[in-house]
Amino acid sequence: MTDCLIFTHPACAGHDMGPGHPEQPARLKAVLDALDAPEFADLERREAPIVARDRLALVHPGLYLDRIDAIFARAETEKGLVRLDADTAVGPGSQEAAQRAAGAAVAAVDAVMGGEAKRAFCAVRPPGHHAEPDRSMGFCVYSNAAIAAMHALIAHGAHRAAVVDFDVHHGNGTEACFENEPALFYASTHQWPLYPGTGRPGVSGVAENILNAALPPGAGSAEFRHAMETRVLPMLERFAPDLIVISAGFDAHKDDPLADCDLEDADYGWATARVVEVANRTCAGRVVSILEGGYDLGALTRSTARHVRALMADEAALAKI
Ligand SMILES: [Zn+2]
Repeated sequence: MTDCLIFTHPACAGHDMGPGHPEQPARLKAVLDALDAPEFADLERREAPIVARDRLALVHPGLYLDRIDAIFARAETEKGLVRLDADTAVGPGSQEAAQRAAGAAVAAVDAVMGGEAKRAFCAVRPPGHHAEPDRSMGFCVYSNAAIAAMHALIAHGAHRAAVVDFDVHHGNGTEACFENEPALFYASTHQWPLYPGTGRPGVSGVAENILNAALPPGAGSAEFRHAMETRVLPMLERFAPDLIVISAGFDAHKDDPLADCDLEDADYGWATARVVEVANRTCAGRVVSILEGGYDLGALTRSTARHVRALMADEAALAKI
């Protein structure tokens, strides 16, 4: 068994929202630079496939998918950017990038639920956790993590699937997909208040299956680790998922330009290790991680290395992280 697979595709760098946009193609290079280190040389790389429409339809209505397809086609024809919301646009390379980002999430679930690997990391963009069932926003088109979790239920017979989201922004899209589905659990640590304005503490979903562990602006390692230890990890373990999906956003880092949290590189290794330990106790170690945000390229490279190191760690190594 391979410990940790890497799913990626060069087409994910072909999604370009124009000069100066923080969700830029160079982010993919920053992540892949981390994985170029000798310690990751033995990890198996797999090509992120194009997603099947019926997998997108697990969380997105057909009308939404048709509308997005038409916008992608227009961007292709006009060879220019077509705006989806105030800060999200698509260009000629965006359709393939978005389809491979969601396709990576589905393929990673297939590999992990099928027993080919315990864990997988999807180095893909655009990110997904702000995409609601019928609305793209916040740099996101398809709700990749929600699709992964739903795919585990529908295609692999998982009874329950969880998403842990440590991106600094609340994943309103994932929450919207999960809030009425008791078989899905969503836990988020995020700065609040901050974009997109959701993630209010106290929202709990239809079956106590939503946990919004909001952090105040300026929160650092201590506040983040406290929220994980006292709230996210205990509820995650009680939920006893058959698969844990991580929405791996690295923008709560102290160097990130889009928010005001103060996490260090090491916090990403620590949080990942603790989630993997819960996975080892509840679901034979099955974790699928999908890249979300992270806009300081240096911090993104360093944090990704910490994250993937923890994903590939055995139990003895985890205890030291
Ligand atoms: Zn974010």
